[in-house]
Amino acid sequence: ATAAIGVTGLGVMGRNLARNFARNGYTVAVHNRTAGRTRALMEVYGDEGTFVPAETPADFVAVLQRPRRLMIMVQAGEATDAVIDEFAPLLEPGDMIIDGGNAHFADTRRREAALRGRGIHFVGTGVSGGEEGALEGPSIMVGGSAEAYDVLGPMFETISAKVGGEPCAAHIGSDGAGHFVKMVHNGIEYADMQLIAEAYDLLRQVAGYTPAEIAEVFSHWNKGRLRSYLIEITAEVLAHTDPVTGVPFVDVVADAAGQKGTGRWTVQTALDLGSPVTAIAQATFARAASGQRDLRAAYSGLPGGTRPPLSRTEAERFTSQVEHALYASKVIAYDQGWKMIQDAAAQYGWKIDLGTVARIWRGGCIIRASFLDRIRAAYAFDRDLVSLLGEMEFAMEITDAQVPWREIIASAARRGIPVPAFSAALAHYDTLRADRLPAALLQGQRDYFGAHTYNRTDCPGTFHTHWTAPERFETTA
Ligand code: NDP
Repeated sequence: ATAAIGVTGLGVMGRNLARNFARNGYTVAVHNRTAGRTRALMEVYGDEGTFVPAETPADFVAVLQRPRRLMIMVQAGEATDAVIDEFAPLLEPGDMIIDGGNAHFADTRRREAALRGRGIHFVGTGVSGGEEGALEGPSIMVGGSAEAYDVLGPMFETISAKVGGEPCAAHIGSDGAGHFVKMVHNGIEYADMQLIAEAYDLLRQVAGYTPAEIAEVFSHWNKGRLRSYLIEITAEVLAHTDPVTGVPFVDVVADAAGQKGTGRWTVQTALDLGSPVTAIAQATFARAASGQRDLRAAYSGLPGGTRPPLSRTEAERFTSQVEHALYASKVIAYDQGWKMIQDAAAQYGWKIDLGTVARIWRGGCIIRASFLDRIRAAYAFDRDLVSLLGEMEFAMEITDAQVPWREIIASAARRGIPVPAFSAALAHYDTLRADRLPAALLQGQRDYFGAHTYNRTDCPGTFHTHWTAPERFETTA
C-alpha cells in the first residue's frame, strides 16, 4: 500500500482536490464509478504528481496506507450514502472516510454515528472555493473526531489556501460541525451578495450612475474596509460589456437568481435553532422572489414612490452613505451567522473556536476578505464575545453609520426600491438595542387566546389573566 489518501468521485471537485494533494507531494489513489474519468485524469494530469489509479473499490482500498484515508467527492444525499455503503465494508477499525461533498450536517451526524459504531472515523468536511479553490487551495472546515484530525490535519493544512503563512483549514468540532459551518458560510455569502446587489441598485436608481461608474465605485471601495473577493468580482461584472449587444452585461442578464440550496438550509436550520439570521433569510427569499416571474409581471405596474435621480453632488454624498450602510449591514449579517454557529454549538455540544472560523475563511472561500481578520482579532481578544457589536471598533463604526444607514433605507422606501437585506440588518440592530420590544403585547395576545401565560417585569413567577371573566383577574400559573 502506497497511497497517503484516496479520492473517489473524480468530478470537477474530486479531480482538482486529488491533483492538489498530488502536487503537494502526496501519493493519491484515484477512483471513480465510471472508470473513464479515472483514465482521463491519468492521461491529462498524470504527470503532475504520483497517482495510483484504481478501477474497483477493492483495488482502491488495497493501495491505501493504514489507517486508510478515503475521501468521497460525490453529490450530497443518496450518492454519498451509496458510496459509503460500498466502501465501508472494505475498511477496518481506525480507517477514515472523509466526505468533502456539500452534505447537510444532519446527514453527517447520522453517518458519523453509524460508522463510529463500526470503529470507522467519518469526517464530514466542508470544502469551499469551487473548482479553482479545490486545485489552488480551498478553505477546509473539518468535522469528526479530534483523533482523525491529528492524522488528516497536516494534509488538509498543506493543500488549503494560506493567508499570511497560516492555513485556511482547521478542525471545527465533532461530527457535523464542519458541514454546519460550511453551510453558514454559504448563508453569509448569500447575505453579502444580496447587500452588494442592493447597494448597486441604489447607486443605479437613486444616484443615477451607469454600471461602468458603479464598477468604479466598487473598485474604490475594494481599497478600503469593504475589500473582499465579492466586491472585487462585482466591479468586474459591472464593468463588463456584452459583446453581442454592446450594452452593459448586467442589463442583458435575466433578473431571476438561482440557488443550489445551502442558503435555504441555513435558513431552515436557523428556524429550528431559533437563530434570527434575518439578513441571510431575506437574501434567500429575495432570490426566490426574483424568480417569481409571473407574479412580478402581473404586478409590475403597481404604484410606488418615484423621484428623479440625484444631482451629481448629491450623488457623491449618497455614495458615501451607501458605503456606510453596506458596511454596517455586513457587520450585522456576519454577526448573525456567528451567533447561529454559537447557538448550534450549544445545541449539538460542539466546542467551536469562533476566531478559528474567521481565520480559515480569510482565504480560499467566496467570502474571503480582510474584514475577517478583524472578526478573528475580536474573538482572539475575547473568546466568549457574544456579538461583534461588543467589540469596540465595530461598535464605533456602527455608531458612525447610524445616520447614513437610516437615510439610505428611508430614501429607498420613498422611491419604492426594495432593500430587504439592508432593512433586515437595520431592524435586527434596532431590535438588539431596544429597551422594550412589542413582544410584551404578543405575550398578552398569546395569553388571551391560548392561556400561554406571561412573566412580569416587577416580580418573578408565571401568570395568566382570566380575560373572559367579567372582572378580569390575574392568577399565578
Ligand atoms: P460533479 O457533478 O462534477 O461530479 C460528481 C461525481 O460524483 C462524479 O465523479 C460521479 O461519478 C460521482 N457520482 C455521482 N453519483 C454517484 C453514485 N451514486 N455512486 C458513485 N459515484 C457517483 O460534482 P462536483 O465535483 O461539482 O461536486 C462533488 C461534491 O462537491 C458535491 O457534493 C458538491 O456539492 C461538492 N462541492 C462542489 C463545489 C463546486 O463548486 N462544484 C464546491 C464545494 C463542494 P460518475 O463519473 O460515475 O458519474
